[in-house]
Amino acid sequence: MSHHADLPAPAVRQAIRRKLLAWYDRNKRDLPWRRRTGDPYASWVSEIMLQQTQVETVIPYFERFMKRFPTVKALANATDDDLLAHWQGLGYYRRAMHLHKAAKQVAGNGGSFPDTVDGLLELPGVGRYTAGAVASIAFDRRAAAVDGNVMRVFARLFEIEDDISQPRTQQRFWSLAEGLLPRKRCGDFNQAIMDLGATVCTPTNPRCLLCPLSTHCRAFANGDPSRLPVKKRTNAVPEIHHVVAMIRCGDAFLMTKRPAGGLWSGLWEFPNAAVSNDESETAALGRVLEAYGVEPDTETEHVGRVTHRLTHRLMQFDVYKSRIDPTATVVMVPDSGWYTRQSIQDVGISTASRKMLEVVRNA
Ligand code: SF4
Repeated sequence: MSHHADLPAPAVRQAIRRKLLAWYDRNKRDLPWRRRTGDPYASWVSEIMLQQTQVETVIPYFERFMKRFPTVKALANATDDDLLAHWQGLGYYRRAMHLHKAAKQVAGNGGSFPDTVDGLLELPGVGRYTAGAVASIAFDRRAAAVDGNVMRVFARLFEIEDDISQPRTQQRFWSLAEGLLPRKRCGDFNQAIMDLGATVCTPTNPRCLLCPLSTHCRAFANGDPSRLPVKKRTNAVPEIHHVVAMIRCGDAFLMTKRPAGGLWSGLWEFPNAAVSNDESETAALGRVLEAYGVEPDTETEHVGRVTHRLTHRLMQFDVYKSRIDPTATVVMVPDSGWYTRQSIQDVGISTASRKMLEVVRNA
């Protein structure tokens, strides 16, 4: 493999590192996990939370989570309910499950975090990017961390026209990132590229005039950097599979409010969860019921399927109804409540939820 074919001359590499780190020192975003430098636990929790979620959404969750589970031991000892109550709204609950499992693994090892990329990769839910980020940020390891942001910056800086959805292209970016790493401050270097991608080299309208790397940037020199990176459109949008629990007591349905920001921000919906690849629908449904303290063996019945198309994904909802006794206990997680078909009219609900109500009515 021609690992370093893309790399600029050593003097240019040196200039890029120096300028980027100097820019970072002046412009780095003040994020709560950055106030805990050298704390692998904080760094790991933040990276997992950030995997599918925007920084602004993560901040309050991170702060609440760290208050409730200040150490990896505290997290290992948490109950699933308590953990989910602090995760609820962040979505992608599999991340929380992995976090829990990994915390138990670390706590079982005397509480000390693996401090190498390979060691971190052993933890459930930790992939190449997260391992590189934690190893470099918390342990000052010489490890690269390449995500979509980083690929965008590099594709422009070095004018790389390859399709970034291809693993081979991604490998090319990893090699580039590794070749550019400074000898020291790799964590800062990685975070600097992330910040540059988030605040300056943005997907549309990059602010090249404010960019510390503009004199080295090929896309800027040749005009129109926002055409990069190249990502081939595939017609097949990813399909996301959910299970939905329409929990009914008398005339009322249990509903929950979606978090602010993100899809269907602040709208009410029926308890649901994404079904992960290695999980059965029943298991996912069990998770949903459990999160609300409904006995997982409560009788449930599949009543239909709702399909909802968004620009970049197709959402499939398998809808189940379960009727519970008025005397049964239900954990009222924050932002949840009981609504009848009538009182539902007073709150905002998503289109998909409206379709689900129809499905149940016709079942
Ligand atoms: Fe991105 Fe513009 Fe900076 Fe190039 S000059 S890295 S395109 S912000």
